[in-house]
Amino acid sequence: MPSTEPAGPGRDRFSIPVSTLASGCSLSIPVLVITGARPGPRVGVSAMIHGDEIEGLLIVRELWRSIEPSELAGSLWMMPVANPLAMEAITRNTPIDMLDMNRLFPGAPDGWLSEQQAHAITNGFISRIDYLVDIHAGGTFPWVDYCYVLNDEALSRAFLSALLYKPATMYPGTTAAAALARNIAMTVVEIGGGYHDQADHVRAGVNGVRNMLRHLGALPGRVEHRDRQLLLHEIKVMRPRHGGLCLPVKPLAPGTWLDGRHALAEIVSPHSFETLETMTTPFERNVVVLSRNYATRINPGDYAFMIGNGATASWYD
Ligand SMILES: [Zn+2]
Repeated sequence: MPSTEPAGPGRDRFSIPVSTLASGCSLSIPVLVITGARPGPRVGVSAMIHGDEIEGLLIVRELWRSIEPSELAGSLWMMPVANPLAMEAITRNTPIDMLDMNRLFPGAPDGWLSEQQAHAITNGFISRIDYLVDIHAGGTFPWVDYCYVLNDEALSRAFLSALLYKPATMYPGTTAAAALARNIAMTVVEIGGGYHDQADHVRAGVNGVRNMLRHLGALPGRVEHRDRQLLLHEIKVMRPRHGGLCLPVKPLAPGTWLDGRHALAEIVSPHSFETLETMTTPFERNVVVLSRNYATRINPGDYAFMIGNGATASWYD
């Protein structure tokens, strides 16, 4: 357990120890702490739980560089690389055990490496903060732009995403499960991904986290509100039955509405170039949440698209 408790206003870094790797190298998780000049909430921001989602790391970099201790109330705890081995390999899962750490929280000290890592993060980070913003993205190929509504709707809205999503049930074993079980207010943001310039996503992410910090009273200034945010209650993850080439019909940005049945992409055999299946919109009223905008390799069962049900969605004022 790290003993570092920043003594006064300033910037500090510490590491959460996880284990010794087979190579003899130590595995630990870096944490950056900005301690403010006045009392206030302890807000955590985590990034790269999945190692192919670099946008959170870029957002944390900007927050670390731009937030001054003198303007902050409370403290900002940031975990820029929550899964270092996955980041190194650019993989969603931890390469040593090939497990998705974000299905294993709160983790276990005597489990697989990913479980040990989740356990270290739960005790060394999540249990020590009042609020958690866990940043995710679409990964190497898809891109995405929405924010979960979990146990603090106002906090989620303050990230200023156009799309919000309140799932009936959350995947078990996520950071959200660990935070919610500990009564820590939290949200998960999904922003960016794919072969795009990520600058706009990083700017929006930094702006969103800063607005959350104003909303929580940790930063001074007026809290921004975004009109006409859409709250989705149902999202269909579109996973192809077959792998091959995924050839989208046209580029689709998150937030795009499509009424009726539309072809989204052809899954094409890389051997014969025949179409193995056509992926189509699942609802009467469809809202694009995650999309692929160019030809990519796709595995069977992979995230191809995520489509929200527009018929059951509601607008915030
Ligand atoms: Zn993720």
